Amino acid sequence: MLYNSTQNAAEAVSAAQAIAQGISKDGGLFVPQQFPKYDEAALRALLKEDYRGRAKKVFSDFLTDFTAEEIDECVEKAYTAQKFGGEDPAPMAYTKLGDTDLNILELWHGPTCAFKDMALQILPHLLTKSLKKTYDGKDAVILVATSGDTGKAALEGFKDVEHTKIIVFYPVDGVSPMQKHQMNTQEGENVTVCAIKGNFDDAQTGVKKIFTTPSISEKLAENDMLFSSANSINWGRLLPQIVYYISAYCDMVNDGKIAFGDKINVVVPTGNFGNILASYYAAQMGLPIAKFICASNANNVLTDFINTGVYDKNREFYTTMSPSMDILVSSNLERLLYKLSGDSDETTRAWMTSLKTEGRYEVSEDVKAQMQERFFGGFCDDEQTQDTIRRLFEQEGYLCDTHTAVAVNVYEQYVKATGDATPSVIASTASPYKFSKSVLQAVVPGQALPETEFEMVDMLNALTKMPVPAPLASLKDKKARFSDVTEVEAMPQYVLAALGIE
Ligand SMILES: *Cc1c(COP(=O)(O)O)cnc(C)c1O
Repeated sequence: MLYNSTQNAAEAVSAAQAIAQGISKDGGLFVPQQFPKYDEAALRALLKEDYRGRAKKVFSDFLTDFTAEEIDECVEKAYTAQKFGGEDPAPMAYTKLGDTDLNILELWHGPTCAFKDMALQILPHLLTKSLKKTYDGKDAVILVATSGDTGKAALEGFKDVEHTKIIVFYPVDGVSPMQKHQMNTQEGENVTVCAIKGNFDDAQTGVKKIFTTPSISEKLAENDMLFSSANSINWGRLLPQIVYYISAYCDMVNDGKIAFGDKINVVVPTGNFGNILASYYAAQMGLPIAKFICASNANNVLTDFINTGVYDKNREFYTTMSPSMDILVSSNLERLLYKLSGDSDETTRAWMTSLKTEGRYEVSEDVKAQMQERFFGGFCDDEQTQDTIRRLFEQEGYLCDTHTAVAVNVYEQYVKATGDATPSVIASTASPYKFSKSVLQAVVPGQALPETEFEMVDMLNALTKMPVPAPLASLKDKKARFSDVTEVEAMPQYVLAALGIE
């Protein structure tokens, strides 16, 4: 299977090349030329498999330049019971809110307690194998822009991985104290962490710019290095996310929640549009998904886009209590637009150019109609987010984080607006302990809170009896290793200095 660039259909590369490179030279994103189709028999066969078995099947159908042994090794190393706190890395939890059933896909049992682990525990293995196939002997430099969770998950995945170096940039005021502490205490010889004076979009734009500056790439090449990406623009990030939607469907059949062949909806708290796009790709493969419910916080650029066909990032940026969704430029939307425009690189390029120069674009009536047929967009503010956390905890004893609460709230709005009773899978993207302060404020409104993050973790634990994930508990006594802060304009120099090749 080959991969094309969304901005140049003449570019056609292997999976290994797509993963090693991260982004196409023309600035486009790599997409598979076609999707493997799973008929009834193929899907039924997966019912009997565990998560790793399902993952191996999906990976082997996309990574046709990898051997079965290579894929086995990647999957077995990534999804261990030790790293994911149990045999099933992505378990379902079934609860309800009022009359609405909630089928919650818990994606946060990995080492950094956010769903990014599902992809970032396996990406380093895929990447080192891809490098060997394409650029043997070179070191990959992983540049990451993070709104909080990707950074830590990437650091944890890449720490001390041979032939890789990783540099993470995060918005200085845009991540939670726990997220900051998680990153600044990161161990590993090959890791660097730096804050930038700007928001997530500034960090992402800065990283993209470094990627596409020829003089910087040449400098790396002279030193036997090349850039790669661990952001969800990398195909190796998206592919692992397809697996858990297929796996959730199988689990729901096995658990008697749906009959085989029934349609489901998915509800995804969305930022960069990677997670929800993976569910769309699963549907392209034959997974019976009816609706994709795209949940946003106050940064509701996607809600507006789905409703109007106009993407406009010229608007106020809000810092919310669901910081991993504080994004105005959702990179992976580009891949959906490419698909909906009939794989038109020309059309996609025009829209992306308009986004760069004008900060907005408007899709055609046809693309808008296709999008509205399958996607529902909704959003909620911080107050509604906390209200949802509180109701779910008080009524059902189920504690969720702020991002998941946005999804639950938007799902309630969707059910109210449409009356659609299709069973729905809600992606739960982080442990509530990653956002203890906001979750506490929701559960015990008005009550005085302790000063430090870890006292709040303890308080939340005392109140809810929900176990604190071991990786967060063990951070308490760790000292920060990193404290650099840089201007956005200085990011290129910072990278070269960190690599020792100024
Ligand atoms: C990254 C993240 C999201 C957003 O996912 P996208 O794939 O970027 O849309 C939502 N919730 C949490 C907790 C995250 O870390």
